[in-house]
Amino acid sequence: MGQIATNLERIYSRLPEGVGLVAVSKFHPVEKLREAYAAGQRRFGESRVQELLAKEQEMPADVEWHFIGHLQTNKVRHLIGKASLIESVDSERLLDMIDAESRRAGVVTRVLMQVHVAQEETKFGFLPQELLDYFKGRKFERLTSTHICGVMGMASNTDDNERVRADFAAIAQVFRQISEIAPDLRGFDTLSMGMSGDWPLAVSEGSNLVRIGTAIFGNREY
Ligand SMILES: *Cc1c(COP(=O)(O)O)cnc(C)c1O
Repeated sequence: MGQIATNLERIYSRLPEGVGLVAVSKFHPVEKLREAYAAGQRRFGESRVQELLAKEQEMPADVEWHFIGHLQTNKVRHLIGKASLIESVDSERLLDMIDAESRRAGVVTRVLMQVHVAQEETKFGFLPQELLDYFKGRKFERLTSTHICGVMGMASNTDDNERVRADFAAIAQVFRQISEIAPDLRGFDTLSMGMSGDWPLAVSEGSNLVRIGTAIFGNREY
């Protein structure tokens, strides 16, 4: 068995029932994705629009593509109908653009709202309070062609496990609060958190979708 298949098998054996795995293949050549595909992996995550589109052309049609990077509004239309889940909606403006382009294309696009809790560096995303206000104001009601399926977040990039755990707990809390604020929001059930270095902690804080790159494919060459 190849290294990628071995890595996938090891991770799946540790993932609890009901927790999904996105294989984050950004910056890796399509050969590596094919290896993962041959091992049974169907969900892949990409962070750049052009790269996702190029790989989408080369990979089998039953691959589910998750977009996980910062998305510029002028690139949204390229992703519509290609990405099965846009995990990184980080502004109302982006959400409105996704909705408009989806309506125009006659499809419904599934998205996650990205919440920003990490302490350091500039990570994209809504602040928890901004996100709660968005749902309190029931602004999602004006969307016609977008299905908000949940929340995505990242923990601080630190060795301090307590910090990481606290970040995941904060993201999970926002997820639960939104469910309480808008109990009528159907299919709001996805909590995406956890990467190669921290996914077990994320799962223990309630994640049901992990996004793992390095631990499957090795280091990226930028
Ligand atoms: C790159 C990336 C990942 C995967 O990170 P690894 O540490 O390689 O597992 C997960 N989520 C997002 C949003 C990313 O950009």
